[in-house]
Amino acid sequence: MISTAQYGEVLQIRVCRYPDFPSAMWVCSYLVDGLLIDTGIAHTAKEFTAFLKDKYLKKAVNTHFHEDHVSANKFLQDEYGIEIFAHPLSVNKINKPATLYPYQEVVWGYPVPSEVKPLGSYIYSENYSFEVIPTPGHDLGHICLFEKSHGWLFSGDLYINTKPKVCRLSDDMWQILADLENIRSLNPQVLFPAPTHVVYEPAAKLDELIAYLEELGEEIVDLHQKGKSVERIKEEIFGPEDMFAQMTQQQFSSLNMIKSFLKNHLVS
Ligand SMILES: [Zn+2]
Repeated sequence: MISTAQYGEVLQIRVCRYPDFPSAMWVCSYLVDGLLIDTGIAHTAKEFTAFLKDKYLKKAVNTHFHEDHVSANKFLQDEYGIEIFAHPLSVNKINKPATLYPYQEVVWGYPVPSEVKPLGSYIYSENYSFEVIPTPGHDLGHICLFEKSHGWLFSGDLYINTKPKVCRLSDDMWQILADLENIRSLNPQVLFPAPTHVVYEPAAKLDELIAYLEELGEEIVDLHQKGKSVERIKEEIFGPEDMFAQMTQQQFSSLNMIKSFLKNHLVS
């Protein structure tokens, strides 16, 4: 299923397989001035491609290789012959078969591998230039795109909400904090995230999130230095894992959040 919303010149394209699923199972792509940012999930790839038939589309960017951001790549290339770009560290992941948890296959589906080209420091549409901002905390090949004249910041999976309680084990929470400070310093006027709603004048929300993560990280390290186990720290700070952890087969969990903040402290 596809739904859209227009934010000035930016078209948001939301896709999901099951409309009744919680909002976390939606994912957004954006189309602006012929540039498509992310291509959605496998289960909607054909519908997504058909939807773009009468739209002005010249090229695309993947913010990172995760399956909910790249899955219409091959269909768009075959149908419209467009070039698609991604961070150099994502190129050799997008062109290989993905490894997914069973729930990911159900909710999003397997992307068809596709050939994408490495991004440089900028990508240009007809009227705008978008600075490529490496934001490696969520994935080493994750990028944001910043269009300075409008203050548009396309943030991929970097921003979800102001109080995240779960993450993937592969998320580097200290780096995510640094990435958020980096994009905050650009003073964006509109934030266009993949997993959630568009945020106008996002400074306050970004400041809230940065303060929350700083405090959380310090508290976790402090409890660890007092000799508490990761499980004990998780219980003290977050309590039992919530539904989302269960639904994602623990791919997203509070325990992962604790482990990520302690990655330089734990002996594996
Ligand atoms: Zn992701």
